[in-house]
Amino acid sequence: MNEPAPRPVRAVVASRKAQPAPGLVVDRPFPGPEVDFVDPWLMLDHFGPERIAPGEAGGLNPHPHRGFETVTLMLEGAMEHRDSSGGRGLIEPGGVQWMTAASGIVHAEYRAPALVREGGTLQGVQLWLNLPRTRKMDPPGYQDLPAARIPVVESPAARVRVVAGEHAGVHGPARSFTPVTLLHVLLDARGGVAVRLPEGHNALVYSVEGIAEVQSIPVPARSMALLDRAGEAVTLVAAGQAAQLLVLAGAPIGEPVVSWGPFVMNTREEILQARDDYLAGRLGSLDT
Ligand code: MN
Repeated sequence: MNEPAPRPVRAVVASRKAQPAPGLVVDRPFPGPEVDFVDPWLMLDHFGPERIAPGEAGGLNPHPHRGFETVTLMLEGAMEHRDSSGGRGLIEPGGVQWMTAASGIVHAEYRAPALVREGGTLQGVQLWLNLPRTRKMDPPGYQDLPAARIPVVESPAARVRVVAGEHAGVHGPARSFTPVTLLHVLLDARGGVAVRLPEGHNALVYSVEGIAEVQSIPVPARSMALLDRAGEAVTLVAAGQAAQLLVLAGAPIGEPVVSWGPFVMNTREEILQARDDYLAGRLGSLDT
């Protein structure tokens, strides 16, 4: 059998600090001056690890979204979620919340009550995933994917958690509107794994923790390797210490992206409409 053709690393991009809300500082490899978005992935925000003292409440007050999906992967600690479609739940370590804002949702994201009571560490990643024009005005939805529902592909020094898409014949539980891959890869100090990626899909590897060699190119923690679109597979190897990585891929949607704050549409007129609809209460509300 032929070795799959490797996907070269096109660029290594470090995160910049961003402040999506008052008091919330995140590391963000994109969007930024180097890379605007990686179609269909619009944003990667890595929050924490942040030490929370007992009694220290916090989070994001009710706010709207329209036109895309938010995908939150909790790594440490827990968050509580409430939204205007009646969705409610705890996102716990290893768990993923896949929220389809589509035509509109208002939600709040707070530190979980137990975390506030006892203190602890909070760390996670929030991704924004675009929707195609034909799906932007669909009804909103919500997928709660606790760690137990996410299959793990084990090899001697690597574990690959398959959230969406496929790895080594194992399919992730997340439903998406366009084909995407989301893998959470945990490598031991001498671990490595080869990941096949669908032909023609955009793809990137983000290092949450540890230095990884992506196609033999070192990628420091909190940086991403943007991969060439040509090629079939990427090789990930830990560089002497344990590493934790995310692999994101997806079929490019190829439509205009016009974004303003929490709204991502195709035209400026649609953004103004989203703002008007939100201000008129048409994106729903939360009784807090
Ligand atoms: Mn939000």
